[in-house]
Amino acid sequence: MRKVSIFGATGSIGQNTVDLISRAPTEYDVVALTGGANISQLAEDARNTGAQIAVTAYESRLQDLKDALSGSGVEAAAGQAALVEAASRPVDWVMSAIVGSAGLAPGIETLKQGATLALANKETLVCAGPLVLEMAKAHNAQILPVDSEHSAVFQALVGEDIRSVDRVVITASGGAFRDWPIEDLPRATVEQASKHPNWDMGQRITIDSASMFNKALEIIETKEFFDVSPNQIEVVIHPESIVHALVGFQDGALMAHLGVPDMRHAIGYALNWPNRRELPIQKLDLAALGQLRFIAPDEARYPALRLAREVMESGGLSGAVFNAAKERALDLFIQRRIGFLEMTDVVSSVLDRFDGAKGHIDAALTLDNVLQTDHLARHWVDEAVLKRAG
Ligand code: NDP
Repeated sequence: MRKVSIFGATGSIGQNTVDLISRAPTEYDVVALTGGANISQLAEDARNTGAQIAVTAYESRLQDLKDALSGSGVEAAAGQAALVEAASRPVDWVMSAIVGSAGLAPGIETLKQGATLALANKETLVCAGPLVLEMAKAHNAQILPVDSEHSAVFQALVGEDIRSVDRVVITASGGAFRDWPIEDLPRATVEQASKHPNWDMGQRITIDSASMFNKALEIIETKEFFDVSPNQIEVVIHPESIVHALVGFQDGALMAHLGVPDMRHAIGYALNWPNRRELPIQKLDLAALGQLRFIAPDEARYPALRLAREVMESGGLSGAVFNAAKERALDLFIQRRIGFLEMTDVVSSVLDRFDGAKGHIDAALTLDNVLQTDHLARHWVDEAVLKRAG
């Protein structure tokens, strides 16, 4: 039996992973499941899968978790240290599906154990790509991409030499506001931004799709994961979300990965890698689809794409600043304290402030520095928003 753990088990990716694992209960021995506020889901899945331990990120919810697990024999724990402790338990395969930079420390701990890390948490590579990849190498651990675009690129590269790659094209649906007049965007509401045209995902990534911050993170993730240069990465709007990514080679060939928008494909691929197995996913009917459209993104509509390029140019801790500022700006948008377009303005101003402060900040890419920088960038967002309000 393969020992597996799922970090962020109660979320959208986590639940799809629980679904796949639960279909083959004799093949998997579940060690740890983790969640946040959704205690009842966490306890239910821990009981059903016979997990060794369930961990909630919030210490204040430990008693609720203990109550929900009472009599099950599943251990209960809470807090950041408990998440890292759970990641230190020996397993073969770990799903990293916590949302945000909170996924970084458990992911690094997983790599230290030499386990295979199925990486949905793109923030890990955005905040600390070189550090994480070095860690994987040092501990002989495999990282497998779960983001659909990166899984698609990974699959298109099987048997290929990365040096023969000319470009990587990742697709974007364009999000909830793709067809809105730009002048209406300042009035976009949280509810409107939370409706994705094609994918069923967690609220935060859905809003990030509308602003294209999600694609901005994915461009950086592509650079880190595949070691291609920023100018080799293209984004194209593809409203149908059927082609997930394409890899262009020196000889002009363009290899595309197609599939219905169902995250269980990328999760299942990472779970079964290097093999392929039957998955409970609808097969694509090309004739029924009829046509696929590809449109160049308008950077005036999606300024986050430009910011991603600036971040890649700066390197170092800029990814951590960008991600943390984006996360905090998103919190404030969800709390209705700033408008939709203000998210980009605020993130941009925090990146500028970081640029100006560079000489005074320890720039070494260590986990401690990433976490401190993350904290600082969030604080700067709050200051920037206060200043705007004043
Ligand atoms: P969700 O919001 O649906 O789930 C997030 C998970 O993280 C939940 O289990 C949540 O617990 C837990 N969590 C939230 N805050 C914390 C915290 N501070 N510490 C520890 N755990 C926490 O997110 P998604 O599943 O949509 O996304 C997860 C990751 O995968 C993200 O990085 C996202 O970008 C990436 N991704 C997602 C895709 C998708 O289709 N959803 C596609 C590709 C990548 P609880 O819900 O119990 O509070």
